[in-house]
Amino acid sequence: MKKYGIDIWSNNNFKIKGGEVVLNYKSEPSLLEITESIRAEDIRGPILLRFPHLIKKQINNLYTCFGNAIKDNNYEGSFNAVFPLKVNQFPSTLDAIVSEGKEFNYGLEAGSKAELILAMSKSSIGSNITVNGFKDKEMITLSFISAQIGHNITITIEGLGELETIIEVAQESKLKIPNIGIRVRLHSTGSGTWAKSGGMDAKFGLTSTEILEATRLLKEANLLENFTMIHFHIGSQIGDIAPLKKALREAGNIYAELKVLGSSALKNINIGGGLAVKYDQDSSSKMHNYSIEEFSNSVVFLIKEVMNAKSVEHPNIYTESGRYIVASHTVLITPVLELFSQDYQEKLLNFKQVNPPLVQELRELHRLINPTNCVEYLHDALDHIESLLTLFGLGYIDLQDRSNAEILVHNIIKKSLYMNSTLNIHEFEQLQVNLQERYLINASIFQSLPDYWGLKQHFPVMPLHNLDKEAIRAASLWDITCDSDGEIGFNPDKPLYLHDIDLDEEDYFLGFFNVGAYQEALGMEHNLFTRPSEYTIDINDNGYEILRSKESKDILEILNAIGYDENEILNKLKHDLSSSDFITEKEKSDTLLKLETLIKQNGYLRTTN
Ligand SMILES: *Cc1c(COP(=O)(O)O)cnc(C)c1O
Repeated sequence: MKKYGIDIWSNNNFKIKGGEVVLNYKSEPSLLEITESIRAEDIRGPILLRFPHLIKKQINNLYTCFGNAIKDNNYEGSFNAVFPLKVNQFPSTLDAIVSEGKEFNYGLEAGSKAELILAMSKSSIGSNITVNGFKDKEMITLSFISAQIGHNITITIEGLGELETIIEVAQESKLKIPNIGIRVRLHSTGSGTWAKSGGMDAKFGLTSTEILEATRLLKEANLLENFTMIHFHIGSQIGDIAPLKKALREAGNIYAELKVLGSSALKNINIGGGLAVKYDQDSSSKMHNYSIEEFSNSVVFLIKEVMNAKSVEHPNIYTESGRYIVASHTVLITPVLELFSQDYQEKLLNFKQVNPPLVQELRELHRLINPTNCVEYLHDALDHIESLLTLFGLGYIDLQDRSNAEILVHNIIKKSLYMNSTLNIHEFEQLQVNLQERYLINASIFQSLPDYWGLKQHFPVMPLHNLDKEAIRAASLWDITCDSDGEIGFNPDKPLYLHDIDLDEEDYFLGFFNVGAYQEALGMEHNLFTRPSEYTIDINDNGYEILRSKESKDILEILNAIGYDENEILNKLKHDLSSSDFITEKEKSDTLLKLETLIKQNGYLRTTN
């Protein structure tokens, strides 16, 4: 994995300069520099860095590509986009989306009541809001209120029952009626891991029979003039563009038919989200097979083709891409706390006056290994350790001999890997696998990379520095939860090699990239590890500025958030301490001081070195 695939997944957002990962933008600050300045303020634990300029870049790309496609195809409808809030609802991300999207009239999509209230409060009057997902009468009423306030809101029905409720609310209330959309159930399906949204057995959408029934109901209730949109979404992270094309033809024909049948207010076709993000670190992986340019061109061209064939006016196109917009703007930075095989340090060797002959031989191999003999010496060492472990099993050598032998062999293997020039590739790889180093990272996979835990979604990961030095330690990453699933194992097919670092001497930081979509929204507080400290960073021509920050919750806040009374907890601890009979008053007050300091820190580990 050369340069950790930065030229594959980073979309030129980051690059390597002077052995460090830097932002490929304006003053090009390094991620290490930013991390160290934050840690200089005594912040410990994982850190989320957000870069709003990367949100701007994506919004801009989306509108530019669709704009070009519309021009190139002489398309007569307009392009509109909304951001689906479920992908990232956190304030610093949403504020960046709203402010960067203003010039495009970028809108918001809501899938629940809370998201709808958020959309209503963050949208400027006139920008689009779409509402998807299952709805009750209350949520439908909220949409009417939004229309009443003056929002350009479209409520998409997922079933006939919802339409009946809309009709009910329209008849009962005096509120302004929102635009109505119909989600269509397509025969075509998506192809990604998340492709459960399209298809005949899909969770959402109306069948053709139901669509006909819906238009009949709308007409009967005098609401046909509010029916403006049809909607579909074939799934997230679309890998192959072919199913999307099929879906477009199918949905396009449904749209055209409805127009012909008299749905005269119908003017918008909403193609959902699904634009994929590159998460791969090596070029041999299966990546999505299209660019944003091809995507936008195909959408515009196909819709035009279908409409022209049926002599129907070109509809306005809506998209709801979320992952594509926000994935790249967030980087998770985790300090490495420990390298486990440091148990095998040479300084821990403790030889006896007289050592068993095989241990003595290992000592010689270790002393004399060089690039010319390393393969032979390595094989000898592996042979000896087998014999030594057998001898131990039979009771012929003791634990100290075994410990010395293990340290020696470990170091012989390591040396031979560094000297490796003639070792055959297969054997080299096998040794790497056997000699994996476990890097303990100060983070929770459950909190910060839940899609790795739940779906084995790979996220690009690399060290932030030392990139001018060779990294040959096959690495598996362990998080600090007490859960054996909190591990990103070494995968020989997509190996991750990291540096051999003495953490007593220097810090070592890993960055996980493209984590801005879904991870925070899905993250869970397993073991009560809460959201990392987060920083929104504006890069300018001379340096960078931290626009806003939010430190990870402290221990009492964590307990408070799940329903405990922090005062009760603190008082109980104080009470037990002060009523202890075993310590002096001075010891009590000193201990209390210490306790109060510790409890005000966040829940992640503090000591890196
Ligand atoms: C989740 C969702 C999206 C966003 O999908 P991405 O893959 O993040 O672009 C868009 N529309 C609907 C209806 C969704 O459910």
